Amino acid sequence: MDERKLIVISGPSGCGKDTVLRRIRELDPSIAVNVSYTTRAPRPGETDGVNYHFVTRERFLDNIINGVMLEYNEYAGNYYGTSRETINRYLEDGTTVVLIIDVHGGSNVKKFYPGAMLLFLMPPSLKELRRRLVQRGGVDREAMEARLKIAEDEMLFASQYDRVVVNRDIDECAHECLEAIRAWELAEPESLNQNTDIPEEIGC
Ligand code: 5GP
Repeated sequence: MDERKLIVISGPSGCGKDTVLRRIRELDPSIAVNVSYTTRAPRPGETDGVNYHFVTRERFLDNIINGVMLEYNEYAGNYYGTSRETINRYLEDGTTVVLIIDVHGGSNVKKFYPGAMLLFLMPPSLKELRRRLVQRGGVDREAMEARLKIAEDEMLFASQYDRVVVNRDIDECAHECLEAIRAWELAEPESLNQNTDIPEEIGC
C-alpha cells in the first residue's frame, strides 16, 4: 500500500477547495475523491453519496463506536469523518485519493499514514474569504461568523502542512496542486521533507 497516494487537502471554509478539486479531476480523472460522512444538513445542490454521506448523529456515533472512522472531528456543531475501509480500498487498488478534511483530521491522517501528503489551500486574503462565504450563502450570519473565526484559527496550521498553495486563480491553483501531488508520488519516501513556506501576503 503506497501511502504517498493519499492526499489531504485542507483550508478554511470558502477558500475554494471543492472548486479546485473539481478542476484537478478534470485535469486528471484518475484521481479519486473520498466522500466523507457528516451530520450537517445538505446545502442547496448537494447530493447524498456525492458531496457527503449525510447521516444522523446517532448513525455517526455508531460508526465511531464500531471503528468505522479513520478520523473524525466536530466542526461548527456537526460531525465530519472519513471511512477507514474506503481509504484502504483506494490505496490497495493503487488509486490516488484526495481527502478534503479539516486541519485536525489532516494531522490525524498523518499519524496513521506518515507517507500521506498534507496540502493546505490558502485564500488570497481574509477579506476575499469573507466575500466568498457571503456569496456562497446557505448559512446564517451567526454560522458564517463562526466559520470565519474557525478559518482564522485553521490558517495557523498551514505551517504544519507539507505544501501550501494560494488560491488566487482556480486553474493556476489546480495545476500547482496537481504538480505537487505528482512530485510527492514520485519522491523517495525519505526525501519527503516539509515545505512550509507561507506566502508573505497572507499575513497569518
Ligand atoms: P463544509 O460544511 O463546509 O462542507 O465542511 C466544513 C469543514 O469540514 C471543512 O473544513 C471540511 O474540509 C471539513 N471536513 C469535511 N469532511 C471531513 C472529514 O471527513 N473529516 C474531517 N476531519 N473534516 C472534514
